[in-house]
Amino acid sequence: MSVKTDGKTYLNYINGKWVTASIQKVETSINPANRYEIIGYVQQSEKEDLDYAVLAAKEAQVLWGKLSGAARGEYLYRVANALEQRIDEIAETMTREMGKTFLEAKGETARGVAILRYYAGEGMRKTGDVIPSSDSEALMFTTRAPLGVVGVITPWNFPVAIPIWKIAPALIYGNTVILKPAQEAAVTAAKVIECFDEAGLPSGTINMVTGPGSVIGQAITNHPDINGITFTGSDAVGKSIGLGALKRGAKYQLEMGGKNPVIVANDADLEQAVEATISGGLRSTGQKCTATSRVIVQSEVYEPFKNKLIEKIKEIKIGNGLKEDVWMGPCASESQLNTVLSYVKKGIEEGATLIYGGKRIEEEALVNGFFMEPTVFENVSNGMTIAQEEIFGPVLALIKVETLEEALQIANDVKFGLSASIFTKSIGRMLSFINEMDAGLVRINAESAGVELQAPFGGMKQSSSHSREQGEAAIEFFTSIKTVFVKA
Ligand code: NAD
Repeated sequence: MSVKTDGKTYLNYINGKWVTASIQKVETSINPANRYEIIGYVQQSEKEDLDYAVLAAKEAQVLWGKLSGAARGEYLYRVANALEQRIDEIAETMTREMGKTFLEAKGETARGVAILRYYAGEGMRKTGDVIPSSDSEALMFTTRAPLGVVGVITPWNFPVAIPIWKIAPALIYGNTVILKPAQEAAVTAAKVIECFDEAGLPSGTINMVTGPGSVIGQAITNHPDINGITFTGSDAVGKSIGLGALKRGAKYQLEMGGKNPVIVANDADLEQAVEATISGGLRSTGQKCTATSRVIVQSEVYEPFKNKLIEKIKEIKIGNGLKEDVWMGPCASESQLNTVLSYVKKGIEEGATLIYGGKRIEEEALVNGFFMEPTVFENVSNGMTIAQEEIFGPVLALIKVETLEEALQIANDVKFGLSASIFTKSIGRMLSFINEMDAGLVRINAESAGVELQAPFGGMKQSSSHSREQGEAAIEFFTSIKTVFVKA
């Protein structure tokens, strides 16, 4: 695999054309594994650029909405084929732009292909029900109408899969789309949009406008012709989008943060629990919304679990994710690294015991990147900041408990409710966990991170606006139900 430094300038994609922003300003995208490597330049657009894209999307929606689901599906199959041809190249760009390992980036891009094919097929599925009318001479049924123009605002941590799992259902159900990707991964997003371009979708059906969240994201939130906004990102930004959308009556879908617990019960398979805690907590450098961050362990197995965990963490190979033997890459940006370091400082100040890591890696080979040691705290109480706030980095907080009841109470004692796991062999404990855990994803003897593309995905409590993405569930957000009554 060759590392390229092409430094190309990527443009907005509006009305079927690649165009510069109205005021010529670009932002540089760099490699977090080596800040001196430029991945490319992306447009810093203005509100006028978004207005132009919305106009194009609004006009295109009239015809796109009238196509059959099967015909729209044909376009998605073509996008899938175009993306499949470029899996290695796009995965490499992702690794270079946001740091996750090439293997993970490749898996994510392949997932993007599978999601496109899944939703292409959804175009043939029924979209309504016949409901018996009390009038025997009438026919009553439901059908689905698209929302119109949908704004898609995405984070940098899954720069291929998240945009696609929003764009594909938006399109298959007859909406047209404006994508605003995170600036930190906008080159990767541009390459995904090149696949849509190659598939020849009608002009204006899919558009991409890059720029700061405070300008383009906010303009999407406030635009009167954007009828639905689907957002994935941080808690604070999500809530501001929700409030803005609510004010003008637009539909919104928010997928936000997590503070995901893993419970290790005293009958757990400790090898399995350790593997899953490491994979769930530290893969992608802990930058997954479903990443494990609190590890709640029953006292009888606490010491052996902790010792095995540290032993395995010591084996983790950290470095540039393009290298085959590297398991963990850098934090995605310098500001992300600094945020993680500030949480480590806070953990120490509040009395937690740092038992592994905690520092930026400053060895010569890695000093130009934003590398962080995998970090483990113990003596963490659930009231501490590191047990309550989303860190979004490679930090695990160990919490020792006596009983399963105590473990469940602590697991639920956060504002988030995205994902949670338990490791146990007892069916009774599994059932208590399934019934009592307030999380949108409840996983037994499996890591907290991960969901299959055909299953509903989303959180409870403050992790989500409570709709679900992925699978069949996606239709609920991207359409409105029309109840039809026909009298002969
Ligand atoms: P972020 O909230 O900073 O940014 C997300 C997107 O919102 C970006 O495109 C950004 O430009 C845009 N944005 C920023 N300010 C805005 C504003 N004022 N108005 C409108 N848009 C604005 O999040 P991030 O740092 O890119 O991603 C990390 C976060 O994403 C974490 O909190 C993580 O938990 C969350 N996340 C959640 C899920 C999930 O499905 N629940 C999945 C992945 C990531």
